[in-house]
Amino acid sequence: MNTVKMIVLSIILFAGSGFAASKELPKMLELGSVNCIPCKMMAPIIEDFKKNYSDKFAVEFIDVNNDRAAAKKYSISVIPTQVFLDASGKEVFRHIGFFPKEDILSKWKELGFSFENKPAVKVESKPVAKADVKPESTFKRFEPAQTDNRSKDTICYMCDKDISNSMVTVKTAKGDVKLCGLHCYHIMYSCMTEDKTGIEDKVTISDYKTKEQVPLLKAVILYGMDERIGRPTLKAFTNKDDALAEKKENGGNIVSAEVLKAKELASRCGFCDRSVYPEDAALVKADGVHTYGCCSHCALGVAVRTGKDIEVYEKDRLTGEKIVVKTHDGKIASLEPKTAVAWFGQKKNKEGKFGSAGCFHQCFFVNEENLKKWVEQNPLETGEMISIEKALADKMALKKEQIMKACKIGECAPK
Ligand SMILES: [Zn+2]
Ligand SMILES: [Zn+2]
Repeated sequence: MNTVKMIVLSIILFAGSGFAASKELPKMLELGSVNCIPCKMMAPIIEDFKKNYSDKFAVEFIDVNNDRAAAKKYSISVIPTQVFLDASGKEVFRHIGFFPKEDILSKWKELGFSFENKPAVKVESKPVAKADVKPESTFKRFEPAQTDNRSKDTICYMCDKDISNSMVTVKTAKGDVKLCGLHCYHIMYSCMTEDKTGIEDKVTISDYKTKEQVPLLKAVILYGMDERIGRPTLKAFTNKDDALAEKKENGGNIVSAEVLKAKELASRCGFCDRSVYPEDAALVKADGVHTYGCCSHCALGVAVRTGKDIEVYEKDRLTGEKIVVKTHDGKIASLEPKTAVAWFGQKKNKEGKFGSAGCFHQCFFVNEENLKKWVEQNPLETGEMISIEKALADKMALKKEQIMKACKIGECAPK
C-alpha cells in the first residue's frame, strides 16, 4: 500500500515539476522554497509572469524541499535559482538569488526572446531591506572529507597548521603548548587574560639553523619581510653570527624581544582584540577610525562592538579578490561584489555540538564557486556557507555580555 502511494506521489511530483519544457514556449523555472525571503520576493513576479506573459513564456515554481529530484536534476545548491530553458527544453541561462522582473525580461531579450508588447503590470512586492535580498544557502559540510590523524603535538594550538621549523613551545601549568611560530605565540599572548608576567621565561623556539629549541629571551631575532607574500618573517638564532649570516644572505633586521613584542601586539582585532598582521586581516573603518578584523566575521563584529556604521575591506580566502561590505544601522548597506558569501567554520565541541571553529576558520569569498573550491582544497574544514547578511545579523544579535565574552579574550589561553 505504501509503495503504491509513493509511486503515485512521485508521478504527481514528476508531472508537476515540468521536467519537459513546453514544445512551443521557452520556460523559466524558479527553484526555491516557500520560506526563504528572496524566494518570497520572487513569488509576485512569478504570478505576474503567469498572468500576463503566459503566451510568451512558461514559468514554473518548484519547491526544492518537496521536489529533491528537481533540485538534483538542476544541481541546485542555493535558492532561489532561476533556470531559463529554450523551447526545446535546453538550459540557456541560470541566475541565483532575487531576480527583478525587468532584469528577467532583459535577460530573455539578451538571449534572443523579446516579450515587450504586454502592458507593464505593477508588481506588488513589499519593500524588503536590501540586506534580505540574498540567496539562501544550502551548502554545508559537517563531516570532514578526510580524517585528521595528526597528533596534537604536531599541530599549532592557535591555527591548527602543521608545526614546522619555527616551532614555539610555551610551558604552562596545564602542559606544553605548541605553536607554529612566534606570530601564533603573540596571538595567544594577546588573548590571555591571566597574569602574563614572566611568561617569556617559559617560551622556547626552534633555532632557524640548528632546529634546536632555545629560550626565546636568549634568541637573536631576525625580523624580515617575505617579498612574495608581503608578510613579516621571524627567524630565531642562538648564535648572533648565524643571525648576521642569514641577514647578509636574505635581509632583515635584528630586533630585541621587546621591539618584536611591541610590533606583534601593535595591530589588534577591533572585535576580539587578538593581535593581527595587517597583511592577513580585514581592514575595518568605523566612523573614519581604522581597525582590523582578525577574520571576516570579527570584522563585521566591529559594528556591534562600536555601535557604528562600518566599512569592511576583506579578501577572498581563495583568490585574494576584494570584497567590500558597508553597514548602516547594523544592516548591510552595500556589498561588493553582490555574489559574495561567507563560510561559517564550525567544529564539534566536547558535548558533541557544533560551534564556531574559531577565527582562523571564518572567511569570505567573492562567490559560491570560490567557497566550494576552497572547501574542497581544505578537507579538514567543516561548517556551512551563510550569507554575509546572516554573518552580520548573528553578530548584531549578540548581547552586551556576549560581546565581552565573544571577544574571545581569555578563551584562547592554554587550557
Ligand atoms: Zn599557528
Ligand atoms: Zn577577532
